[in-house]
Amino acid sequence: MSSETLFTKIVNREIPADIIYEDDLLLAFKDINPQAPFHALVIPKQVIATANDITAENSDVVGKMYVAAAKIAKQEGFADDGYRLVMNCNEHGGQTVYHIHLHVLGGKPMGWPPY
Ligand code: 5GP
Repeated sequence: MSSETLFTKIVNREIPADIIYEDDLLLAFKDINPQAPFHALVIPKQVIATANDITAENSDVVGKMYVAAAKIAKQEGFADDGYRLVMNCNEHGGQTVYHIHLHVLGGKPMGWPPY
């Protein structure tokens, strides 16, 4: 899938975002509506619409999203205390932007289950 999404507009600097990490495959930026003291989104630059679209062929970049998330948590200083990584899928998962993204939430203890 290669259509433009809200997040490809952030990748292309067509809309502003507080970018905290970038490499050739990934971008990470602060969430516009933070749900924790620290809340960022790690995205692949290529459009993968939902978790259902993750395949053996594109799973490499998905693994790299987790590597980047852990790097961000260490840089932000909450890796040892702990944090939450979330990828919502489709309507019941609460997904609103159809370009996969890993929520990186940290800076406070979080409850479970999330409903
Ligand atoms: P989802 O609900 O799809 O799992 O998460 C989408 C996330 O994108 C939400 O947490 C929402 O606050 C965030 N978001 C939506 N629009 C923008 C935007 O224009 N800029 C940024 N930085 N985050 C956005």
